[in-house]
Amino acid sequence: MSELSKKLQELLEKQRNGQLKAKERFEIPPQEMPQQDSVVRRSNMNEVALGYTEEQARLEALRCLQCPTAPCVEGCPVRIPIPAFIAQIAAGNYAGALEIIKEYSLLPAVCGRVCPQEVQCQEKCTVGLKFKDVMKSVSIGRLERFAADWGAEKAQTPRAAAPTGQKVAIIGSGPGGIVAASDTRRAGHSVTIFEAFHKPGGVMVYGIPEFRLPKAIVHKEIETLRKMGVEIVCNFIVGRTRTIEQLMKEDGFDAVYIGVGAGLPKFMGIEGEQLVGVYSANEYLTRANLMKAYQFGRGADTPIARSRRVAVFGGGNVAMDAARMAVRLGAEKVYLVYRRSEKEMPARVEEVHHAKEEGVEFCLLQNPKRILGNEQGQVVGVECLRYELGEPDESGRRRPVPIAGSEFVLDVDTVIVAIGNGANPLLQQTTPGLKFNKWGNIEVDENCRTSLEGVYAGGDIVLGAATVILAMGQGRIAAAAINEYLAGKRR
Ligand SMILES: Cc1cc2nc3c(=O)[nH]c(=O)nc-3n(C[C@H](O)[C@H](O)[C@H](O)COP(=O)(O)OP(=O)(O)OC[C@H]3O[C@@H](n4cnc5c(N)ncnc54)[C@H](O)[C@@H]3O)c2cc1C
Ligand code: SF4
Repeated sequence: MSELSKKLQELLEKQRNGQLKAKERFEIPPQEMPQQDSVVRRSNMNEVALGYTEEQARLEALRCLQCPTAPCVEGCPVRIPIPAFIAQIAAGNYAGALEIIKEYSLLPAVCGRVCPQEVQCQEKCTVGLKFKDVMKSVSIGRLERFAADWGAEKAQTPRAAAPTGQKVAIIGSGPGGIVAASDTRRAGHSVTIFEAFHKPGGVMVYGIPEFRLPKAIVHKEIETLRKMGVEIVCNFIVGRTRTIEQLMKEDGFDAVYIGVGAGLPKFMGIEGEQLVGVYSANEYLTRANLMKAYQFGRGADTPIARSRRVAVFGGGNVAMDAARMAVRLGAEKVYLVYRRSEKEMPARVEEVHHAKEEGVEFCLLQNPKRILGNEQGQVVGVECLRYELGEPDESGRRRPVPIAGSEFVLDVDTVIVAIGNGANPLLQQTTPGLKFNKWGNIEVDENCRTSLEGVYAGGDIVLGAATVILAMGQGRIAAAAINEYLAGKRR
C-alpha cells in the first residue's frame, strides 16, 4: 500500500469515528494536479492537467471543513451545494457527488476545467482564508472535474416530456445555448439550434484550446442533445440566412433564445494592424482549434502560416491561450506584451503559470506603439514603449503610464491581438424592436426576457465577454422563462 493510501485510510477511519478534527484537516497538504511535462507538452495539443487520482480526490475532499454556512456556495454563480458533493467524494460515492452537481450545472466536466474558481467559490473558502492563500483553498473545481470524469461514460440521456407542439429556436450553440436547448427540450418542445459555424459548441470548441478543454467532452454534450431530439443546423447565420422575424412569423417558432456570444474582436487602432501576419486572437484560435491548423500537411483547410517569432498583445485568458497555442504551432519565440504588471493581469494564475512553464516570455509594463512591415506588407517587428504604474484608475488597478523616449523594437513575424471581444452588430442591424445597450449588448430583464415578445437572450451577448458558467446560468433562467411563456400560450 502506498504512503498516500495509508494516509487516506487512516484519515477515513478517523472520519468514520467522528474523530477527524479541523486541525488535522488543515494539515492535509493541498493535492497537486498531475500534469503533462512542460517540455513534452510544448509540441502536442493534449490536455495539460491530467485530473486527480481517486486517492488524491478523497484526500482533497477531506480537507473540506463542511462549514455550516458554506461561504463557497455564495461564490458559485449557480449555487452548487459544494460541501454536500465534496462529502460524497470523501465517502467514495462519486455517483452521488455527480448527481448533486448535475442538478445545478449541466456541464460539470467543462466547468471543472475552465471556471475561474479562484475568484468564485475558492476565493471564499474558509481553508484558503485560514492560510491567507486562495491557492490553498479546497480545490473545488478539481473535485468537480473528478466527479464529472468519473461519470462520463455512465451518463443517461435526459428524457423529454410529452410533445407540446411548440417550437423553440436557439441561436448559437455555446454553453448558454446548450443549456437552454436541453431545458426547453426536456419540457417537451421541439427545439432547433442554429449555429453560424460548421461545428456546434461555441467558444468551448472554437476558442478554448484542446490542451485546456478536450473537444470530446463538448462533442459528447452535443451528442446528448441530438439523442434528446434537438435538431442542430450548422452553417446558418441568423440575421443573414433567416432573420429572427422570419423564424417567428414564417417558420413557426413560438420562442427564441439568442446566445450568439461576443465574437467580434477588438483591435488597438495602431499603425500596421492591416499587415499580413496580424491576427485577432479569435481568428488565430479558430483556425487552430476549429480548422485544425496544427495538423500541418494533414489536410487542414485554412492553416496558419508557420511563425518563427510571435508577439501576443494582452494579459487575459484569451492572450494566454493564443500564446500557448503559438508555442504548440512551432514558434521559436513567443512574447506576451502587457502594459501593466503581472499583479494586474486578468488571466488566471494557473494559466500564467502554465504559459511561463511552456517558455512564453512575459514583456510586462510594455505596450505596442505600431506594427512594422516590409515592402511585401508582412509583419517584421513591433515598436513598443515601456510603461510604469501610476495612480489607480476607475477599475481600481494602477494606471499604466508610458515612459517618453523608451521605444524599442521586438523582432517578430506574427502579431496576435488579444485585447478583448465585443458584440457582433448583425442582429442589431436585422432585428427591429430588439433593444441593445450602448456597447451593443442585448437588454434583458431578470428572466432574460428581451424587448420583443417570445424572444429571450443570455450569455456573452447580454453580459459582454464573461464566463462559461455565467452563460450556462442565463441559459437556464431563459429556458425556465420560455417554458413558462409557452405554457401560458397553451392555456
Ligand atoms: C479564447 C477564449 C478563452 C476563454 N476561456 C474561458 C475560460 O477559461 N473560462 C471561462 O469560464 N470562460 C472562458 N471564456 C469565455 C467563455 O467561453 C464565454 O463567456 C462563453 O463561451 C459564452 O457563452 P455563450 O453561450 O454566450 O456563447 P459562445 O460560446 O460565445 O457561442 C456563441 C455561438 O453563437 C454562434 N453565433 C454567433 N452569431 C450567430 C448568428 N448570427 N447565427 C447563428 N449562430 C451565431 C457562434 O458561432 C458561437 O458558436 C473564453 C473565451 C475565449 C474567446
Ligand atoms: S468554504 Fe471551503 S471548507 Fe468550507 S464547506 Fe466550502 S469548500 Fe468546504
